Amino acid sequence: MTQSATQLYETGDARFSRLIHSNARLETLWTGARWCEGPVYFAAGKYLLWSDIPNDRVMRWDETDGSVSLFEQPCGHHNGHTTDLQGRLVSCEHGGRAVSRIEHDGRRTVLADRFDGKKLNSPNDVVVKSDGSIWFSDPTYGIDSDYEGHAAPSEIGASQVYRCAPDGTVSVVVSDLVQPNGLAFSPDETFLYVADTGRTHVPDCAPKIRRYPVTSDGRSLESGDDFALSDCGLFDGFRVDVSGNIWSSAGDGVQCFSPDGELLGKIRVPEVASNLCFFGPNRNRLAITATTSVYSIYVNAKGC
Ligand code: MG
Repeated sequence: MTQSATQLYETGDARFSRLIHSNARLETLWTGARWCEGPVYFAAGKYLLWSDIPNDRVMRWDETDGSVSLFEQPCGHHNGHTTDLQGRLVSCEHGGRAVSRIEHDGRRTVLADRFDGKKLNSPNDVVVKSDGSIWFSDPTYGIDSDYEGHAAPSEIGASQVYRCAPDGTVSVVVSDLVQPNGLAFSPDETFLYVADTGRTHVPDCAPKIRRYPVTSDGRSLESGDDFALSDCGLFDGFRVDVSGNIWSSAGDGVQCFSPDGELLGKIRVPEVASNLCFFGPNRNRLAITATTSVYSIYVNAKGC
């Protein structure tokens, strides 16, 4: 790795220099959370939302003037967010142990809260496929204690990734991880990437992103392989750019991987990063949730 003078960027592969603007600097959009997660951008409304899980609130940053306000509290200890194909907010709720959607008229609809008749653990991160299905991870962080949700035993007894079909049917798509966490599809949706943060519970569980080929019918996955191993902390949430590069949170900030799994470079962030999303009218800016703060930086890449 080559460190720049400011140590903001670390370049491990020449390709990384074409994915960043060497004079772009890290900006702090806001600070004041206990644990930030789940950034999501609404282009039409020009705002970002994110979770502050222990404080049971969702915050809103206004792109027009940089102001930050409370969006919802209590919210059911939201974690990850995304938007669906109609631009509606889809949320992972630790407190509600559910994946929910806010309709255009403001009503909340529960999309999934059970599998096989048993309560989900605590949905963590979520992504919407082009067929309208909703894929989400379900580790135990929201039921391990009362800090990020409500302490309770796991009814399912496993931490898995699920697919919620447009008709509401929930099926297991990944069952070989300790604590599945962030997830994202490749641009052509031929692969699903899933992070495993199981080291929080099993010391010898390597912090990694796994890659699973999507079956030809688009509804399930073939067996996966290790795609990337973290050299600093855990991969939690991540996003994919239009060229297929993976931009992941990690213990030292953002780590960027090529579609073939090479670590291209890093953007160092002063706090442990939990998640990120592309935002702005050109989707060429990263919003990075990191412990107490939300940071942003322009990159020479465009989010899917
Ligand atoms: Mg997460």
